[in-house]
Amino acid sequence: LDPVEFRRQGHMMVDFIADYYQNIDKYPVLSQVDPGYLRKRLPESAPDNPEPIETILQDVQEHIVPGLTHWQSPSFFAYFASNVSIAGFLGEMLSTGFNVVGFNWVSSPAATELESIVMDWLGNLLSLPKSFLFSGNGGGVIHGSTCEAIVCTMAASRDQMLSRIGGDNIGKLVVYGSDQTHSALQKASQIVGINPKNFRAIEATRSTTFALSPESLKLAISSDIEAGLVPLFLCATVGTTATTAVDPLGPLCDVAKHHGMWVHVDAAYAGSACICPEFRHFIDGIEGVDSFSFNAHKWFFTGLDCCCLWVKNPGALISSLSANPEFLRNKPTDSKQVVDYKDWQIALSRRFRAMKLWLVLRSYGVVNLRNFLRSHIKMAKLFEGLVAMDQRFEIVVPRNFSMVCFRVSPWVATINCKLLEAINASGRVFMTHAMVGGMYVIRCAVGVTQTEEKHIAMAWKVVQEHADVILKNHGD
Ligand code: PLP
Repeated sequence: LDPVEFRRQGHMMVDFIADYYQNIDKYPVLSQVDPGYLRKRLPESAPDNPEPIETILQDVQEHIVPGLTHWQSPSFFAYFASNVSIAGFLGEMLSTGFNVVGFNWVSSPAATELESIVMDWLGNLLSLPKSFLFSGNGGGVIHGSTCEAIVCTMAASRDQMLSRIGGDNIGKLVVYGSDQTHSALQKASQIVGINPKNFRAIEATRSTTFALSPESLKLAISSDIEAGLVPLFLCATVGTTATTAVDPLGPLCDVAKHHGMWVHVDAAYAGSACICPEFRHFIDGIEGVDSFSFNAHKWFFTGLDCCCLWVKNPGALISSLSANPEFLRNKPTDSKQVVDYKDWQIALSRRFRAMKLWLVLRSYGVVNLRNFLRSHIKMAKLFEGLVAMDQRFEIVVPRNFSMVCFRVSPWVATINCKLLEAINASGRVFMTHAMVGGMYVIRCAVGVTQTEEKHIAMAWKVVQEHADVILKNHGD
């Protein structure tokens, strides 16, 4: 890596990205290309000879940018955002620049120690009980995704349970969530060897909340125990993907703990908001759970990938996930005075993700982070107010965070689906849908760093304009 050439090309790249952000409003938010578009435009094989960065960047602009759905567009309201910031971006540059592989302490002490410190900082910000922090014999680790966090915690719970009841009983273990729990739970249970028949997606309350009721959990557990099965793992969600419903952690833990189960809380999207004192109540009851995770790469300005996972008992993770080949043996590990994060995750190699989180926390400061999150929630409230004023629409579930679920009358899926398709085909905004309790709902999820109130007003105008046309055609 020639530093002189790196500086030249690096500056060019930063300029390219800055221009992209400057012009992002001009692109259709949802990519409008057809499947296979790129193969038609690129050569069949890699070039034999080097090509200059100038030519490559030209091709990025011409061929790649049209095939991007612009997640950082201020008019992106789909899924949940995956927002970025200058700090997160620069932190990513630094960690990529160093490109250290800190699988154990000795392989890059700063990577491990910064991760432990930042996870304690964040744990304190969330007012997690001390038992989740290193100072309280728990600890935090950064994974790539919530899915990995659930796989690892479920594997730990499985091994803990099997050491009590015998390995032959793996076929009896049961995993619980609600029908609103993210599919990551089902995937994890497939991976860790849970019998597919023992995966319970319990119907969430069909009132307005769509949360998992402790009574339903109790009933499901009782019937499994009667059938000779063994309750293992409950995944409760704070901020479900479809409607941002919040499962009641305290009462659910009371039920699960009675049966010695492991309780994990998936707060992938909404966990961020809980650094604001006024939203902290959404994780009340957290003291009773075994593990908790949220994706800083969703709504914490940190950029993919950065899933923060805390566990009360790191020993359980370590005994399930560690492997100690001779080539990794070293004195600090033998001294048992250090954290070797390879034993807290699936892979051996790992990225220096703590760097970007550290930069985000330092560059914003807690006050600004809270205010940014509040501004997104305020904008969602604004959108909710606009929907509520139009008699043709209804808000389907009460808003908890920065996402609004709504639909247009007639409430049928066909009309609402048509409306969503028309909105997205306009290229001016991008929203997505969910099916909840048999209802087709349109989700407007606010969370992109650059979104301002004017984008909310514009998004609502787009929705209304297309509703006018669709309802008129429907009536004719
Ligand atoms: N859990 C919830 C509640 C989510 O909303 C999502 C993604 O949107 C996930 C889990 C999946 O996260 P990941 O892609 O990090 O595995």
